[in-house]
Amino acid sequence: MPEDCIFCQIVAGDIPSRTVYEDDSVLAFLDANPLAPGHTLVIPKAHHERLNDTPADVAGEVLSTVHELVPAVEGAVDAPASTVAFNNGEEAGQEVPHVHAHIVPRFAEDGGRPIHALVT
Ligand code: C5P
Repeated sequence: MPEDCIFCQIVAGDIPSRTVYEDDSVLAFLDANPLAPGHTLVIPKAHHERLNDTPADVAGEVLSTVHELVPAVEGAVDAPASTVAFNNGEEAGQEVPHVHAHIVPRFAEDGGRPIHALVT
């Protein structure tokens, strides 16, 4: 693991996070700067920089976890919908180079606007 990877440090327990789900290969935790209540990140425990570098079986585990967590996350904050996204590469806005999926609960007040409208 790269020493300076924030998400590897979260996996190792060196940086605190609020765990949503954990198994041998995947960790889900609440985003430290949430775009909405319940904003959750799902990562493989192994370090892979972006989706393109991630073995298909590992990507499958992450996606399978996302699939399981979406209804639970929405239910936890009483959201009728959610945006699920990967920022895949720096030019796409990926700030942390450890592959991760965002689950962002969405609400009626969002007015059906796309996710980028929440941050611009
Ligand atoms: O997709 P992107 O790389 O831009 O997203 C990184 C996410 O990681 C941000 O939503 C940021 O709030 C989150 N983060 C975090 N805890 C940290 C550092 C970043 O939840 N210690």
